[in-house]
Amino acid sequence: MIDFVGAGSGAVDLITVRGQRLLRDADVIIYAGSLVNPELLKEKKESCNVYNSAHMTLEEVIDVMTEAEGKGERVVRLHTGDPSIYGAIKEQMDILEQKGIPYEICPGVSSFCGAAAALKAEYTLPGISQSVIITRMEGRTPVPEKESIRAFAAHQATMVLFLSTSLLEELEKELIAGGYAPNTPAAIVYKATWPEEKVFHCTIDRLFQTAKRENITKTALIVVGDILNGTYDRSLLYHPAFTTEFRQGTEEGRDE
Ligand code: SAH
Repeated sequence: MIDFVGAGSGAVDLITVRGQRLLRDADVIIYAGSLVNPELLKEKKESCNVYNSAHMTLEEVIDVMTEAEGKGERVVRLHTGDPSIYGAIKEQMDILEQKGIPYEICPGVSSFCGAAAALKAEYTLPGISQSVIITRMEGRTPVPEKESIRAFAAHQATMVLFLSTSLLEELEKELIAGGYAPNTPAAIVYKATWPEEKVFHCTIDRLFQTAKRENITKTALIVVGDILNGTYDRSLLYHPAFTTEFRQGTEEGRDE
């Protein structure tokens, strides 16, 4: 059995209870060494074999999985954050499928959630934005033209950018060309939830400058949007005049 496990965004105690149990029981762990907190490996059994996938190709990863499965061993493939976001798990799952090797997925706390916690932010504020766009700048991996930053910027929804810290000069231009005001609030969250976490607030037109000044080149998320501003409408859900499945609204509350 192969278990794809989300390691969480960094802090060792942010892995799920299920993920931790799978790690403890694993005979083989293949972890994404560039971003997974190595402290998590302290949970492993003495006899567990550990591989760092940063040095491996897809084929090598699959070979390790196949061999372990043949011996009836339990394999954990440990991915950073949640495996569904830029995790490159589909290509592994498809090969396992072809080989008839069973697998499961255990979700994790994605770094975009870790970043919200670091910012003490709510990505979806009434009257400001009710959507979160998770995307990236085009790097060596192409991004479909329909999903260009410029096209998404037209929505002026909350945007969280992965894998883009080295491309901030271009990102600023694209966000502004797409319709965000240059003084729209933005933040750079470096190593969210790790002990060395850092948060830098700025505006869109100062993203590049801020990252340069603070020497941030990787392992960061860029958050953009007016949700970082501090103004919003209060929620209807907890408004006294609002009736929900669980609570009857009152007349008095109506104009509050
Ligand atoms: N599956 C992961 C993302 C992998 S892509 C997740 O759900 O978080 C790798 C990118 O994620 C990095 O380049 C960086 O942009 C972002 N990232 C991962 N962990 C991070 C963290 N703790 N703080 C800030 N950004 C992080």
